[in-house]
Amino acid sequence: MKDHKEKYSFHQFTVALRVRPINASELDEDASIVAHKLGEQMMVLMDPTECPVDLHKGNRSREKTFIFDVVLDTETSQEDVYESTTKDLIDGVISGYNATVFAYGPTGVGKTYTMLGTDCEPGIYIRTLNDLFKAIEETTDSMDYTVSMSYLEIYNEIVRDLLNPSSRVLELREDSKGAIQITGITECSTSNADEIMELLRKGNKLRTQEPTGANKTSSRSHAVLQVTVRKKTRVNNIHRGTFSGKLFMIDLAGSERASQTQNRGKRMKEGAHINRSLLALGNCITALSERGGNRNHHVNFRDSKLTRLLKDSLGGNSRTVMIAHISPASTSFEESRATLIYACRAK
Ligand code: ADP
Ligand code: MG
Repeated sequence: MKDHKEKYSFHQFTVALRVRPINASELDEDASIVAHKLGEQMMVLMDPTECPVDLHKGNRSREKTFIFDVVLDTETSQEDVYESTTKDLIDGVISGYNATVFAYGPTGVGKTYTMLGTDCEPGIYIRTLNDLFKAIEETTDSMDYTVSMSYLEIYNEIVRDLLNPSSRVLELREDSKGAIQITGITECSTSNADEIMELLRKGNKLRTQEPTGANKTSSRSHAVLQVTVRKKTRVNNIHRGTFSGKLFMIDLAGSERASQTQNRGKRMKEGAHINRSLLALGNCITALSERGGNRNHHVNFRDSKLTRLLKDSLGGNSRTVMIAHISPASTSFEESRATLIYACRAK
């Protein structure tokens, strides 16, 4: 066993960037590729609106460089994405630490592909659960482990159960130990991978998806898969203490700004809510990284449902991974730049 105390005694925040392949409709629009991976950690973005040849500066002025913990390009497999971002969180969760991994970026850049994936190319959700079950099977301690799973969405600051379409609006509350509870949510405890994939796929279909100017099936909600590992110690066959570790895996709503999707009325309000929670999330992460070891530094989790839900799983001894997503196409340049700036700010 690794020394978890040493490994998890401080907050760790990892920012990864994934670039999806250019697609047919971008090629139809004569888009060129403006995002290039340079080495393991560097992404270069070229401004397609600037003149490529500048006699005084060469063409360097068009390029902007962004540094990440890891850059995953169009060649990176689903397995490699999982291994370089999420796999390492499993040991900690089994040892009772919380962790969060979330996919960030505008609509159509591959967030759902990374998290849920397809039958042939499963994503982070199922790979993590499979490895989690395997790791529990391989533990040699005398603890009893149970794993439960909930799948919910946050849409317009309302929490809904994606495993039970007929459930009412769910409320968050904090228990006496400061742990966040979701009252009335479905907890599922199967360890059958096919069954889980089926549940997640069905749940994903229930997600609030509305057409916007930018894309026909833009997800307007944050989808949150919450996995809880509880363990009980046994002394002479009598259960003593219980511990639990929580892992959140989140497919965030599209980060495109309301102005860019020509939204009006209801869509505009959604955009405002989405931006509010993404802004609140960014603010919490920045405050947590500024806080370092100073526990007195204030972090405001109250600004959105998303950050309230994550209150005990961001910061402290928990680990956080952000996987930012961009398209490499020149037609997405502004969105990509905004995404890279948001993700780098979190560092
Ligand atoms: P988002 O959830 O960010 O809106 P999606 O995950 O739905 O985006 O991806 C949009 C489309 O691009 C989907 O058809 C998806 O299968 C495809 N796609 C995204 N990322 C990749 C990738 N890395 N490799 C191949 N196809 C991808
Ligand atoms: Mg999606």
